[in-house]
Amino acid sequence: MEIYEGVVAFPGIAIGQIRYYVSTKESGYPHAISDVKQELDRYHRAKEKTLEQLKELYSQAVPETKEADTLRRQIQILEGTGFSRAITSMIASEKVNVSHAVVTTRDEMASVFGSLKDEAALNRVQDIREISNWMTYILDGLPKEEEILHEPVIIAAEHISPEEVMKLDKNKILGFLTQEGSPVSHASILVKTMDVPALVHVPADAGWDGRFAIVDGYAGKIYIDPSDGVLQEYKKRRKLEREEKEYLLSLKDEEDVTADGHRVHLYANIGNLEDMSQALDNGARGIGLLRSEFQYLGRESYPGELELFQAYRQAALTMGEGLVIIRTLDIGADKKAEYMGLSDERNPAMGNRGIRVCLQKKEVFKEQLRAIFRASAYGNLAIMYPMVTYVEEIREIQRLVEEVKASLHEKEIPYKDIQQGIVVETPAAAIMAGELARELDFLSIGTNDLTQYTLAMDRQNPQLKERYREQHPSIMKMIEMVVREGHKEGCWVGICGELAANTALTSRFLRMGVDMLSVVPACILPVRRSIRETKIKS
Ligand code: PEP
Ligand code: MG
Repeated sequence: MEIYEGVVAFPGIAIGQIRYYVSTKESGYPHAISDVKQELDRYHRAKEKTLEQLKELYSQAVPETKEADTLRRQIQILEGTGFSRAITSMIASEKVNVSHAVVTTRDEMASVFGSLKDEAALNRVQDIREISNWMTYILDGLPKEEEILHEPVIIAAEHISPEEVMKLDKNKILGFLTQEGSPVSHASILVKTMDVPALVHVPADAGWDGRFAIVDGYAGKIYIDPSDGVLQEYKKRRKLEREEKEYLLSLKDEEDVTADGHRVHLYANIGNLEDMSQALDNGARGIGLLRSEFQYLGRESYPGELELFQAYRQAALTMGEGLVIIRTLDIGADKKAEYMGLSDERNPAMGNRGIRVCLQKKEVFKEQLRAIFRASAYGNLAIMYPMVTYVEEIREIQRLVEEVKASLHEKEIPYKDIQQGIVVETPAAAIMAGELARELDFLSIGTNDLTQYTLAMDRQNPQLKERYREQHPSIMKMIEMVVREGHKEGCWVGICGELAANTALTSRFLRMGVDMLSVVPACILPVRRSIRETKIKS
């Protein structure tokens, strides 16, 4: 039996086999080769195989569709000379392995064509990326992400991005172990929605693949090839855990009212529509944070207004009278979409993200606003803007909102005047809460970013894991201040960052006057229990 440790991102117990996940991005590490001819032969075989598969797909594609066009372009690139010559000359001159040459060529071409910014060039970048990834699957024998899970497994990885988590089949995951990341990285937040134990900073490596393990997401321990005694002990604990979950389910239909009769709103944080059923199964009365950016990730182009509208309408209809707060696109930092063409930044967490990007890409933003306002006619929607730091930003947003409403009005498309709020997640917004609240209906405190910006510590930096404290007194003081200042201006104030799920703080938050707590679906019932046990006037 081997025992390892990690930092808990989400509690729980998992027992099962480990599947070591290799991101396609990690494929292509360089290593020196001695036989150039053999490596060139490997390249040609991989190229032929990729071409064969692309041609087969092309023959099955409906002619003149986007899919057929993409496949035709990709076949042309592979049959042409430019891409191939770059790879073969790198293998020959630098004596490196073929997958490294493929990945390097991919990145070099992406940076050349990516800087051109016209549609044909962006298509070419995407095509090159896809064929290169395809070829590296073939070369390195890596399975495609979507296909790797046949039976429930514990995923272990060096690194996993939010997009990669999104592609995994949630029903086939028992637990998550990663070397990198943090409890508040977006990949971890998505994993929490799966309600499985997750540990970060785990010394996982490829040698763990296929081994039997126990993940203790309470103590932050992993037992590989556990002894019989340990296995029996954890089977008992897992049974108790299931019984506790059963008990919590009995609170599903209970009200969110404190023991002394004070009503609170307890909502769910979700990343996409599929999480909606989990929110309802756990008794959520509304959605306090729909992270809309996930609809923009893991794809090759922007979702259109119709696609966005259909998703938001579905969310509104599913929740009925329950409030659904759609946070507008919060792209940037650890959430990237290549097709948006955002330039690389030295310090992306402090850079161009959230509303800053939306106010630069006004057409993209207005498309989303139109979709939200159109969907507002079908239920109880609200809109929330991320990363606001200036009152002027809200005024600029309001001008765009008015334009959108006017165009809907003109076309006689129904919409409602929905509530608007911001995520208070920068110290600037917290300090200016009163001034900002004057322009808004609500404030929702995003403790994840508020912590990283207040402490000046990257929320994902493993070196700071001992110092990074979401309950730092400055954060608690800011929450108190935002609630007080927001209330003075007639706003209701909630918390939608991960700290809202900390049941040890529930009574403190409620005494501060917090009106809403929004947490991942699996945390709703434990927080409901805490609310119901709290007495505000102690
Ligand atoms: C936050 O920053 O607390 C928040 C809710 O937003 P995200 O975690 O998506 O950055
Ligand atoms: Mg945030």
